[in-house]
Amino acid sequence: MGHNPLHEGLVVAAHGRHYTVEMPDGSLRKCFPRGKKAGTAVGDRVVIEPQGADEGVIVRQLERRNLLYRSDEMRTKLFAANVDLLLIVVAVEPAFSDELIGRALVATRCAGIKPLVILNKVDLLAQLPAAQARIEKLRGLGLEVIELSALDTEQVNAKLLPLLKGRTALLLGQSGMGKSTLLNALVPKALAPTQEHSVALDAGKHTTTSTRLYHLPDGSGDLIDSPGFQNFGLSHLSAGNIERGFPEFEALLGECRFYNCTHLHEPGCGILAAVEKGTIARERHDLYKRLLAEHEDQNRY
Ligand code: GDP
Repeated sequence: MGHNPLHEGLVVAAHGRHYTVEMPDGSLRKCFPRGKKAGTAVGDRVVIEPQGADEGVIVRQLERRNLLYRSDEMRTKLFAANVDLLLIVVAVEPAFSDELIGRALVATRCAGIKPLVILNKVDLLAQLPAAQARIEKLRGLGLEVIELSALDTEQVNAKLLPLLKGRTALLLGQSGMGKSTLLNALVPKALAPTQEHSVALDAGKHTTTSTRLYHLPDGSGDLIDSPGFQNFGLSHLSAGNIERGFPEFEALLGECRFYNCTHLHEPGCGILAAVEKGTIARERHDLYKRLLAEHEDQNRY
């Protein structure tokens, strides 16, 4: 018996051991990687060999522009590929974590992805000024910020939709920031899978945990959402990568006495001097130290 003809498709969902692949005609197939190792991520373009009416085997994946990892219970996992834009959803309340944003900034700068901060719930006027003051610090790191209320679909369409045109955006947000509300405003069908999707995507069993790629209704861009995703996996990055993740270090690197300065303890370090002077925030340098320590822990053996 001969092999079935091969087809190219887009990975639109990952469920641990198998993937949902969208075929060029829009149909979905439940696909398994060939061999034991699953090296595929949502957003990957793959070549599959169809099996029966709605299954297939992933023969290989095509070259990717970039690849992101997530960190789950201290384990680093392959996560999303070919991402153009990271949407970091924060809210006027509850308070957001600077650490999470700092880690996202490292991940995006190393992967060549543009980060965009969305300050949500701007209708909460009493708390807005305090949140905006915190947001100013992020602008100081070169982050672009837009402000909106996810409950106001018109505002979402006017302010955010144009920025998603022709792009694949990944949604990131701590719980309570309004990520689901925003996803629902952009892709109204996202949280209520159709029958057809339910079958191919094993909805019911997996909808709350799987990473999914949604097409915007007008077809102008894609959005990747992963319930529970909060932390990028960064342990694969080198010390140099981590340093590049801190844009405020860049202009001062020339001031370090040693060309291979690690900015941890060296005399004549431009970064440590700036921390002492207060021109670089101590919390940011602390985050840098933690990421370096994580990297060393992972690469010790
Ligand atoms: P998620 O955990 O990030 O997915 O957050 P949800 O989308 O579930 O939103 C958390 C809570 O914030 C819900 O009660 C939402 O109704 C509320 N919420 C979301 N967006 C807004 C907004 O723009 N303004 C206000 N006032 N509340 C919002």
